[in-house]
Amino acid sequence: MRKRWFSLVAAGLLVAGTLVPATPAMAAPTFKVPFPCGQVWSGQTRTNHSPANAVDFNRTDDLGDPVVASAPGTVDRVTDLGGTSYGKYVRISHPGGYHTYYAHLNGFNVSVGQSVGYGRVIGYVGSTGGSTGPHLHYEQRLNGGDIQVRFNGTLALYWGTRNYTSDNGCSSGGTATGTVNTSGTPLTVRSGPGTGHSAVGTVADGAQVTIQCQTTGTTVTGTYGTSSIWDRIGSGRFISDAYVYTGHDGFIPGVPRC
Ligand SMILES: [Zn+2]
Repeated sequence: MRKRWFSLVAAGLLVAGTLVPATPAMAAPTFKVPFPCGQVWSGQTRTNHSPANAVDFNRTDDLGDPVVASAPGTVDRVTDLGGTSYGKYVRISHPGGYHTYYAHLNGFNVSVGQSVGYGRVIGYVGSTGGSTGPHLHYEQRLNGGDIQVRFNGTLALYWGTRNYTSDNGCSSGGTATGTVNTSGTPLTVRSGPGTGHSAVGTVADGAQVTIQCQTTGTTVTGTYGTSSIWDRIGSGRFISDAYVYTGHDGFIPGVPRC
């Protein structure tokens, strides 16, 4: 079944004539998917959307999920339009005449005038305004007119639905510390992310490890449940995350994918 969304009131923009900029246009900010690092969201564009270039984002059970700033900027609107149009929405002003819009929010986590950076939670996915189901309505605008959305400079899919993986707020080169817990026996270190890779050593129960990056591999059931995540703890050295206490279920925010 496909969700149907109520169209927002059209914000038409008539561009008459040809604009000749007096100075070269500033480079666009590097916009990122407006959700925390590592999350995968389905983004839909459609020709009958209003405005046309907006993206509607969904994932399973997304009501109340955090929404993050797409790029650094200043929050210039935190507005509740009630049961119409955007409902609760946040607008962020970015250098060069760009704005991003985050609409139908359930709640806010910023106020007007606040500076925000990548990964900053600004609000939560909702179904306010003219929306009939939880989703994030997202726009990029230049000098007030909606433009086709780009993430990391790459054009979103026009028209259609595809998955977008967020690298928003991932600190590149970020590492995390984990603690190995096997309840006794040393944990086997593999040359790659899976039990099929050769054993290249062991880590003692209780040892601290530095996790350089994470990836998926063989599914393993260990002390912390069943996981297909593998942690790289050195060059050519991987251990199953099912035996490592990291404080997070799943991928650790801020630690890159290998
Ligand atoms: Zn929408």
